[in-house]
Amino acid sequence: MTRPHDPVALARALIRCPSVTPAEGGALSLLAQVLTGAGFRVERPVFEAPGTPAIENLYARIGSGGPCLLLAGHTDVVPPGDPASWTHPPFAGAVVDGVLYGRGAVDMKGAIACKLAAVLAFLDACGPGFGGSIAFLITGDEEGPAINGTIKLLEWVRARGERFDHCLLGEPTNPDTLGEMIKIGRRGSLTGTITVHGRQGHVAYPHRAENPIPGLLRLASALVAAPLDTGTAHFDASNLEFTTIDVGNPATNVIPASAKAVFNIRFNDEWTADTLGAEIRRRLEAAAGDVVRFSLDLQPSNSPAFLTVPDAFVDLVSQAIRAETGLAPKLSTTGGTSDARFIKEACPVIEFGLVGQTMHRSDECVPVADLARLTAIYARVLDTYFSRASS
Ligand SMILES: [Zn+2]
Repeated sequence: MTRPHDPVALARALIRCPSVTPAEGGALSLLAQVLTGAGFRVERPVFEAPGTPAIENLYARIGSGGPCLLLAGHTDVVPPGDPASWTHPPFAGAVVDGVLYGRGAVDMKGAIACKLAAVLAFLDACGPGFGGSIAFLITGDEEGPAINGTIKLLEWVRARGERFDHCLLGEPTNPDTLGEMIKIGRRGSLTGTITVHGRQGHVAYPHRAENPIPGLLRLASALVAAPLDTGTAHFDASNLEFTTIDVGNPATNVIPASAKAVFNIRFNDEWTADTLGAEIRRRLEAAAGDVVRFSLDLQPSNSPAFLTVPDAFVDLVSQAIRAETGLAPKLSTTGGTSDARFIKEACPVIEFGLVGQTMHRSDECVPVADLARLTAIYARVLDTYFSRASS
């Protein structure tokens, strides 16, 4: 079997697998076939939980000694939406004028194809005795509930005694140009609901009622009156946004019984979900005094803020990027959450992938040249990582 070292061919083949979460769509089978052909031991654990769809995942490893470099990612994709909004069909993998179109082109089948192409070329050049191990940890549940994916796959792998030294996750990290940004951490996320309790009544007889709306406005204003913090060495300031305020009162002559506001906070490493929740409660209590009756519901958060302290591995990846693109990547902690928040429990994790501009949009696409360049970057990372390990 000739080994498919061409990242474009691999990315096109992956895009043609319609793996909208939770469907496997043939994407993991394709990876399994290629990895098995390259000498990896491949396993396909399926995880399920009540109320969620069963999810197929993939774990593959070559080598048994250390160091072990973990390459992580997901093959599931978000739905394409209205097919008519796509110039090129979402699951065709069309290449037009040097650009590959399709759902998952940048998030993140393209990056998986680049990793695979880089690893196959590396193994061809060095053989299996390259002085360490390479593992792929690929889930089909990143864009969905993320319950039967990376978090369980990591537990399953670690229960078998597998250990990793570093992880490179292939999420699209660059805002505009390949090479400009590595993610070395992520902000945490906390969602809460404030309910102000009043007493229903006729608007013409307000003394017999208690309107919760002014109280809610007072509490909401108090929460945004002062910043939560001023940012930390590697993080922007934490930010609170109200996402909805609801009274649900259709009558113009009724004072409502209660009013609710929901907020989400993206927080930095100055906080945990617990300390931040306590601070929110403190601010609300101070604003409410004994005038406003309220309750605060904080959703359980599985998204802590975390930072991978820049070290030799971050340097190694930065230098590989600089060598291939001429850019010195910014070390960033911006953006939403990712599976890195689970992987960081297993080993230091950083993220570097394609340009994210078109992710989750119609006509998601990647220049073919970017696929070649990202493959070259990953190849350099492999070369340097294992030559350092053996020297
Ligand atoms: Zn993604």
